[in-house]
Amino acid sequence: MKDYLIKAYGFDGTVRIYTAVTTNLVAHAQKIHDLWPTSAAALGRLLTNTIIMGAMYTGDQELTIRVNGDGPIGNMVATTTSRGEVRGYVDNPHVFLQYNSGKLNVGQSVGNGFIHVTKDLKIRDMFTSSSEIQTGEIAEDFAYYFTKSEQIPSAVGLGVLVDDDNKILSSGGFILQVMPGCKEETITKIEETIKNLMPVSEMVKKGYTPEDIMNEITNNDYQLLQTMDLNYYCTCSREKFEKGLISLGKTQLEEILENDKKIETVCHFCNTKYDFDEENLKDLIKEAK
Ligand SMILES: [Zn+2]
Repeated sequence: MKDYLIKAYGFDGTVRIYTAVTTNLVAHAQKIHDLWPTSAAALGRLLTNTIIMGAMYTGDQELTIRVNGDGPIGNMVATTTSRGEVRGYVDNPHVFLQYNSGKLNVGQSVGNGFIHVTKDLKIRDMFTSSSEIQTGEIAEDFAYYFTKSEQIPSAVGLGVLVDDDNKILSSGGFILQVMPGCKEETITKIEETIKNLMPVSEMVKKGYTPEDIMNEITNNDYQLLQTMDLNYYCTCSREKFEKGLISLGKTQLEEILENDKKIETVCHFCNTKYDFDEENLKDLIKEAK
């Protein structure tokens, strides 16, 4: 099954719901970053949450989410567009921490700290809003973020199943957002439904589509608004790295040329390497100030 999400209204149009299957894009992230199980689960949950959040916007907007915890995973970053493209990385890809039950201990691996959400609307300034990490399990942290920073009462479910050999078995998620005018009894009903819901990673492993997950949440009663394909997509290029090197300035580039004769750069998001040799450096120096 390909990765995609659907957006719908449920509960008489008073709740906005997104459901997504992201197994392939998380498997791609696992491969390029050599993620071990707990790092894979943490980044996979973040990528899923981020790509769903991207679908809340339109046009050329970009969203960058930083999870800065003090756990062994270190910082995590994910960036998305409103077109179903996401990329991300973790400081430490090699974390495999479990609870006694054998369940991956994402919370402790992420630790305490803050979530920072930066919206680049491509018109003027960027906006960043932040909230405190609650459990480090990612879903609870973003439910808190939506409620606290965006004043939208929300429920978030995210799940990644990873085999001991690091293979991604399933990944998916949902975000529910309660809109003004939603009745108290509807909220109670939603809370009850979410509490009894099968974990989303289990649903995806059983082959549930985003529509099937939506059916579980709304009891087959929703209005479909949008369907969107999802991909792991990096926007890096040699030109972007050239610009970055030029911005270091003439003096520093001349020092690199003198001492190392070359420079090797690597994209954090996709691990593509861009090498610049002596000739390339001389060209860059000509363009630098
Ligand atoms: Zn890249």
